[in-house]
Amino acid sequence: MALHKTKDVTGGDTGTDVFTTALSGRVLPKYRMPEEHSPSEAVYALLRNELLLDGNAAQNLATFCTTWSDDGVHRLMNECLDKNMVDKDEYPQTAEIEARCVNILAHLWHAPAEDGPATGCSTTGSSEAAMLGGLALKWRWRARRRAQGLPADRPNLVCGPVQVCWEKFARYFDVELRQIPLEEDATGLRPHQLAEYVDENTIGVVAILGVTYTCDYEPVADIAAALDAIQQEHGWDVPIHVDGASGGLVAPFLHPDVVWDFALPRVASINTSGHKYGLAPLGVGWVVWRTADLLPPELVFDVDYLGGDMPTFALNFSRPGGEAIAQYYLFLRLGRSGYRSVHQSCADTARFLAGEIAAMGPFTLLYDGQGALPAVSYRLTDPAAAGFTLYDLSDRLRMRGWQVPAYPLPARRDDTVIQRVLIRHGVTLDQIALLAEDMRRALDHLRAAPPTQPPTAPRSGFHH
Ligand SMILES: *Cc1c(COP(=O)(O)O)cnc(C)c1O
Repeated sequence: MALHKTKDVTGGDTGTDVFTTALSGRVLPKYRMPEEHSPSEAVYALLRNELLLDGNAAQNLATFCTTWSDDGVHRLMNECLDKNMVDKDEYPQTAEIEARCVNILAHLWHAPAEDGPATGCSTTGSSEAAMLGGLALKWRWRARRRAQGLPADRPNLVCGPVQVCWEKFARYFDVELRQIPLEEDATGLRPHQLAEYVDENTIGVVAILGVTYTCDYEPVADIAAALDAIQQEHGWDVPIHVDGASGGLVAPFLHPDVVWDFALPRVASINTSGHKYGLAPLGVGWVVWRTADLLPPELVFDVDYLGGDMPTFALNFSRPGGEAIAQYYLFLRLGRSGYRSVHQSCADTARFLAGEIAAMGPFTLLYDGQGALPAVSYRLTDPAAAGFTLYDLSDRLRMRGWQVPAYPLPARRDDTVIQRVLIRHGVTLDQIALLAEDMRRALDHLRAAPPTQPPTAPRSGFHH
């Protein structure tokens, strides 16, 4: 039986309603491809309805990623649907725009001026960017060791409470990850801890600008100074890669006095997620090297079968070009002052929320939204006496559609459960005032009717 006789139900001449097609009258084929094709508008309407079951992105306060884009971004993304980032011969202007973004970032991050263009590329996100940054560290360390006639088979990477992408890098590329546990009351790597973990096989230290768990910055300048001291003592010249997934596009606008980027000679490379505080739609990250010589040429492949000769350094081959174009659109559209005011209004909203949370009673702030990412993190002051857990609070808030994750801190502080709220472009102060009201209502409910068996295991997904 033909599902439908007309070309398209929107044709309007059949009088068929999208919800009265043959497809609408049954459960959708789920695990096997259907034999027949169906009218596009009916399939669209059915899928759209199914997707309403997903969370509402605007109420997802767990994610760092862009959930609001203006009309210009929507239009460019649509118009650039066919542009393949890898095909620099066919889409030379897309390649040119990618290179402009790399140069803009290198300048924003105080890379020393070189004769040629800045060295870096777009990626699908910070995870791929981290892989590329890590690979360059590993290759350079190995070349140094071999040149000295020393063994080069046991590389390690030293870091604090990193995002999972660094654990992936270490496992995928066979590098030992030396993750330094948190000290009591610390939320990230502290410079004096390094001496115990760094050695001749350390390919680099990852410093995080915007720790995933608590949203504050690790002290990159002090980390660099500690590595200077280690070099003085042992002769090991250990480079820093800054994971600026979120902070890399916050600090230049809100915290120009924080010294963390290529202004520090020890910082060899930096990654950021364009789709976080870069405000671009999902699917774009960046990695930039301080100077061209820090990217080993063996990692760059030349491809000639797309026409022309083009270098490619990426884990992916074909990849959409629209996200990088949208990134350039945003750089042009907002400029420095636009990024500053967008992020500042988010930071103001975070400050407002921190005040509300402090006034609610049972919480202690870990980070109040000032000095680093526009976000707030907090814990229960006295979890044993509270009668409920932050997981219970997450569940109550979820009933109103808010996603506010609860999760334990990383190793050595993993007995501390915290909550985190991220404020980003499009999350308004009014919305956060509504969240605060819902939090107060949830607290009243949990106090009046404490859960009998407080759950102890994480139930809401922690979005890294
Ligand atoms: C989000 C994040 C990542 C991963 O970035 P993606 O763009 O999601 O791949 C890595 N490091 C930190 C610190 C992050 O916040």
